[in-house]
Amino acid sequence: MNGIDAIFPGKTIGVLGGGQLGRMLAQAATRMGYRMHIFELQADSPASAVAHETINAPYEDLAALTTFARACDVVTYESENVPAVRIKAIEKVTRLRPHWSVLETTQNRFREKRWLRDHGFPHARFGEVAADGDLRTGFDQVGLPCVVKTADFGYDGKGQMKIFSAEEIPAAVRRFTGQPVVVEQFVDFSGEVSAVVTRSPSGEMRVFPVAENLHASHILDFSIVPARVPLAVAVRVEQLARAVAEKIGLVGVMCVEFFVPKTGDVLVNELAPRPHNSGHYTLDACMVSQFEQQVRAICGLPLGSAELLSPVVMANIFGDVWKRRDGKVVAEPAWNALLAEPAVRLHLYGKSEPLIGRKMGHFSATALDVNTALELAQRCRAKLWSAPSFSMEQAGMNTVGV
Ligand code: AMP
Repeated sequence: MNGIDAIFPGKTIGVLGGGQLGRMLAQAATRMGYRMHIFELQADSPASAVAHETINAPYEDLAALTTFARACDVVTYESENVPAVRIKAIEKVTRLRPHWSVLETTQNRFREKRWLRDHGFPHARFGEVAADGDLRTGFDQVGLPCVVKTADFGYDGKGQMKIFSAEEIPAAVRRFTGQPVVVEQFVDFSGEVSAVVTRSPSGEMRVFPVAENLHASHILDFSIVPARVPLAVAVRVEQLARAVAEKIGLVGVMCVEFFVPKTGDVLVNELAPRPHNSGHYTLDACMVSQFEQQVRAICGLPLGSAELLSPVVMANIFGDVWKRRDGKVVAEPAWNALLAEPAVRLHLYGKSEPLIGRKMGHFSATALDVNTALELAQRCRAKLWSAPSFSMEQAGMNTVGV
């Protein structure tokens, strides 16, 4: 790397999207001396609270997007819900990393699955049904059991339905007719894992240790690192993550999610060209976090070590742990009980409304071995619910109706 194209501290990084991933990126980047600009529709977003400037506008507002891009030395995105075709225009003004076409491929399940197939990556068998197509052709192609997934903007299991028997097909037809969907073979897996890979403009790559992911209601609940899988599986996952990053021409950070079937090779499930919830553990258990790595990659700087310093378990904190009476939030979770554990670190995203199912933050628990870390994380989550906590008045917050 000759550093000619490097964007040094003091320059400005722009982020499309103002959620928690943008917030943690901004925290990493400002620590390193960068200026941060956020482009986000909603006022008071988690990222804008820790950034220098924010433009509140929709992606359709080309003039606002151009003004935003002009002020930035490099622009990145923190969500797959940014419409790729809209942000093409940024490349005429400044650097956009990863390239908009990486987002275009990964934000639509048709394109993502075709890309995996065409590049020879192992994936679950699938069929495509167009908006005006007949869902039954998808079932004929793939067989039962299967999972129906909307082609656009799917994440955390939204827009999905598992079909185990022929009796469930009419309900699926009613639900999905008129929408483009992927019908995917149901994978009988022993587990789910992911790898976060970083690639710089020069092609330098680092892969963070493989995470084992436990979901609840399709949403990530715990990430366990190192993953409790045979070494051969971890090695294969890392090899595939590198190959995906290379083939897709990644500059930045990408999470590659996998199924580990009970028999046979691992299967790539999804690609997310941004830092990922299953990589949050890197904030507390790696030398360099996925967010710092993103800064380094998009700025053309040398990448840091992705080495794991301690076994760790990351647990998500959902709005559900706020205490409610008659549907109204009456008390904060028992943060004091959580923080009384010396090997636990708390990350909250500054969201004001703790809605049920909303990701409000996460915590990490470290220990000498991963099973002890998992026990600690589970104990801490139970404490958030049950230990005495502050009322909203004591916490200085308004009560929020949900
Ligand atoms: P996705 O949004 O595609 O990552 O799906 C969310 C979750 O649904 C995954 O993490 C799995 O737990 C489950 N899931 C999705 N697709 C399949 C499949 N083909 N077979 C079995 N489980 C699946």
